[in-house]
Amino acid sequence: MKKTSRRVVIAGNWKMNMTPSAAKAAIEATAALVKGKDGCDVVLCVPFIDVATAVEAARGTNVKIGAQNVHFEKKGAFTGEISADMLTEAGVEYVIVGHSERRQYFGETDETVNKRTRAGLDAGLKVIMCLGEVLAERQAGITEEIVSMQTKLDLAGIPEEQLKNLIIAYEPVWAIGTGLTATPDQAEEVCCLIRKVVAGLYSEAAAEALTIQYGGSMNDGNAAELLAKVDVDGGLIGGASLVPEKFAKIVDAAQA
Ligand code: PEP
Repeated sequence: MKKTSRRVVIAGNWKMNMTPSAAKAAIEATAALVKGKDGCDVVLCVPFIDVATAVEAARGTNVKIGAQNVHFEKKGAFTGEISADMLTEAGVEYVIVGHSERRQYFGETDETVNKRTRAGLDAGLKVIMCLGEVLAERQAGITEEIVSMQTKLDLAGIPEEQLKNLIIAYEPVWAIGTGLTATPDQAEEVCCLIRKVVAGLYSEAAAEALTIQYGGSMNDGNAAELLAKVDVDGGLIGGASLVPEKFAKIVDAAQA
């Protein structure tokens, strides 16, 4: 399958930014700028408190709304958590799982990433599953081992037919929020590696159909050359997604 046959997904991760009123304004501005840009899926992953406002503001536009985490249990005594059913009923279509900030600050492990991914997929959400090496691992020359291991552990037990709703985001931790971007060749090398691991776990066809994003200081200045790489099928964008004009330019770069 050629890259052009895979769905390109440009997703913003707002992290802990934007009150509901700010979210409404940002979504309306983004939607106006990306109107008719149907060469990729456009997603904004918002804080839980913004979901209702965001879904309403995005209605009738080509902006889809995502959340930034999901719990793996369906319901119960899990104070502060949000279930997949709560998200789908609220109109959320995508969810980020395993972001490096969740792994770094909130004790997320490959086991919990896998459980959250499975819960999201079972509920019909499109899951953006993040993985990537930290700086010390890259410097030690073990990026391949780390990323392969994460891919295998995070996908454990997920049946091939559910991969149609899965996106893997390769996010080298050293590039997130730092202004340091992986070079297009570095991004391509690891996205290609992830695709090979997926082919080994499932099939060539499943791997070829899988959308694999790059994330890490992607912005309106570097998006085009990153997205030009054959195995880079979109981006997960933090800082630049907070500014509708910058985010829209990344969407423009994905229209090829
Ligand atoms: C992210 O939050 O996933 C991210 C890639 O952030 P930034 O674009 O700010 O590096």
